[in-house]
Amino acid sequence: MNSTETQPRILIFATKLGYQTRAFDEAAKKLGIELVFVTDRCQRLEDPWHDRALPVHFETPEEAAYAVMQAQRGKRVDGVLALGDRPTMAAAYAARGLGVQHNHPVSIEACRSKLRMREVFRDAGLPVPWFRAVMLQPAPEPSLLGIEYPCVLKPLSLSASQGVMRANSRKEFLAGAARLKHLLESAEIQATREPNLDRMLVEGYLAGKEVAVEGLLTEGELQVLAIFDKPDPLEGPYFEETIYVTPSRMNVTEQVKVEQCFRNAVRALGLVHGPVHGEFRINEEGVWPIEVAARPIGGLCARALRFQIAEQEETIGLEELLLRHVLGLNSKDARREEAASGVLMIPVPASGILERIEGVDEARTVRGVTELEITARLHDYIAAWPEGSSYLGFLFAKGERPEEVEAALREGHGKLRFGIAPRLPVEHPVTKRI
Ligand code: ADP
Repeated sequence: MNSTETQPRILIFATKLGYQTRAFDEAAKKLGIELVFVTDRCQRLEDPWHDRALPVHFETPEEAAYAVMQAQRGKRVDGVLALGDRPTMAAAYAARGLGVQHNHPVSIEACRSKLRMREVFRDAGLPVPWFRAVMLQPAPEPSLLGIEYPCVLKPLSLSASQGVMRANSRKEFLAGAARLKHLLESAEIQATREPNLDRMLVEGYLAGKEVAVEGLLTEGELQVLAIFDKPDPLEGPYFEETIYVTPSRMNVTEQVKVEQCFRNAVRALGLVHGPVHGEFRINEEGVWPIEVAARPIGGLCARALRFQIAEQEETIGLEELLLRHVLGLNSKDARREEAASGVLMIPVPASGILERIEGVDEARTVRGVTELEITARLHDYIAAWPEGSSYLGFLFAKGERPEEVEAALREGHGKLRFGIAPRLPVEHPVTKRI
């Protein structure tokens, strides 16, 4: 056995190699782990980014898994992790082929289809709104379909609330369906080769507050790592995220109900191993699972989470915790740090070319703000929701109490100004204060 074979190796499946994968790289160095990235960034060159990432197509997951297995033949592989929704299927097939612990591809398939997930939840007796799949061509007639209002229109397999719209009337339904069809037929979405781009899911609108929950599964047992409140009302017509704050300000009874609903949802889906992220609505009728994904919280938001583990004084990040979990190193006693923590996903006020960003230094100096990362690039086109799926950036805050964190995020956001010009060339860009 040569020296590299004694070093643990973990495969990371990711669409983008950026902030999140760099955080994994740092954690891996600390733990003495070799990471192998598997990505679909580009297919044409052997090692186009000189980082030895394995190029695959995530839209053909079995083929991607086969390519990974070929490349890993004879090498040590301790586990796989998928970042983002798109690579989760390929990661599940590869894990199966390589014989490492993971979720069954059928479970992942249910997580990747919003329609399948509703069927699984309904069949398991979990609360679900009424739902039905509707073809987008010919234009659907809601009165013939028995649609009730308010309802929500959504694509079957996109993420980040892209294409998700509320309709309060027949008129809004027709406009929403046409808009969704246009989005799903766009070159950008067609290039993803996601299945079911010719239909949408329509379901009853669930009123109530919403939380996001980060969890970790070990042999089917769910460890809840954090419950994030979403203090801005998510009432539509579009549903881009804004503020996440943890710990939750819900009372203990409500938190226990959310955890129980999360447990039931992962069990119904058959998820047993690794990171899980869930979204739930809570109203007087109870806790409703909106969706569960077999991956950690997206992108930069993980930076809002730090954990205390038994053998270490310094806190560790979610990435380190997940790598430790893959290796079976003690992660069960991990507790989120004492401080309240939050992130604001900076919303896009209007679609257009990002011409100017102001107030970054002022936002950074707001008491409680710990970090501001602008991720949108100047002079790039940025789409607002429902067509959009990327935020302008991420603002982080910490404090003693969740109220302070929320206030710091709001104050920091108030300092920022983005100049966004319509795509057609005009002389004076429109400046929007958000
Ligand atoms: P995605 O996977 O793209 O995030 P979701 O199905 O999770 O799509 O929906 C995104 C957001 O839209 C949810 O977090 C929630 O705020 C809102 N939403 C989705 N479905 C409903 C519903 N039935 N009732 C109320 N809000 C909903």
